[in-house]
Amino acid sequence: AKGGGRGRFRFFSADLLKAAADRRLLEEDLHDALQRDELEIHYQPVVRAEDNHVVGVEALVRWNHPEHGPVSPARFIPIAEESNLIKGIGEWVLRRACEEVSAWPGGLRVAVNVSPVQFADDGFPALVASALANSGLEPERLELEITESVFLQEGGATNERFKALKGLGVRLALDDFGTGYSSLGYLKTAPFDKIKIDQSFVRGATEAGSRNRAIIAAIVALAQALEMDTTAEGVESFDQFDLMKSLNVTLVQGYIYSQPIPNAEFVAKLNEGNWTIEPSG
Ligand code: C2E
Ligand code: CA
Ligand code: CA
Ligand code: CA
Repeated sequence: AKGGGRGRFRFFSADLLKAAADRRLLEEDLHDALQRDELEIHYQPVVRAEDNHVVGVEALVRWNHPEHGPVSPARFIPIAEESNLIKGIGEWVLRRACEEVSAWPGGLRVAVNVSPVQFADDGFPALVASALANSGLEPERLELEITESVFLQEGGATNERFKALKGLGVRLALDDFGTGYSSLGYLKTAPFDKIKIDQSFVRGATEAGSRNRAIIAAIVALAQALEMDTTAEGVESFDQFDLMKSLNVTLVQGYIYSQPIPNAEFVAKLNEGNWTIEPSG
């Protein structure tokens, strides 16, 4: 664009320039993170609210940056998605999570987050099949978490894609439900097994007069009518926990039970026979 004049630069504050530079540097480092073995998976238990029984885990990627220390996935996953690095990282997480969890005692399920960019790749079902075959994990123990944004991704969420994945025998969860800009039309056909209720609804739900409660109740009713499970995310307090139970949410995930923890730590707990966790604030 020519002739924008001096005014054009008014918006480029020093902070913005610095943020852009930081982002570029982070992207360069992320490029090497896999080869340098800087990624790791932490596992957060998913607990049945009724009896505190651990039924599964969510796999959450961690990046230990050699200089900056831990970098949040909320920061580096979007960078990976915009730079095509997500394919390699996503594949690594999927394969590693299947390998690690298949070696655990008991039959816990593992939920793996799938970026819309990954999901839209025609080779994605074949990748899932390969991860299952190589690890020996039973297909019904793998749950793929996808967000509504897959329905906005071009050529992404086709019926064919869903059919191929369900054909493998894996489970599908709808993550961050109700937080995107999507219609509900996809629920007519997309074969989800579970709806995850976002922490933005859980937070504040216990406050007097909060509308979040009505929203959660409506999500639970919708899920029940469609024969899907529900997980409440980000449950931190006893009050939130009690409310989720009274609203008939089936599964609970959050700091009230446990933070995400490294593989070795999780295995140690399972070997001690800790198949239930008491909620603790
Ligand atoms: P998400 O999929 O919605 O994951 C839930 C996030 O909530 C995780 O943050 C988890 O650590 C955090 N959390 C769990 N319990 C609580 C709680 O009680 N209170 C609060 N405040 N937070 C809680 P995390 O691990 O930082 O991940 C952030 C996001 O990064 C994830 O949100 C997901 O969108 C993305 N992400 C993480 N791992 C992966 C991955 O392997 N692949 C992809 N594509 N995205 C990932
Ligand atoms: Ca998730
Ligand atoms: Ca979520
Ligand atoms: Ca979220």
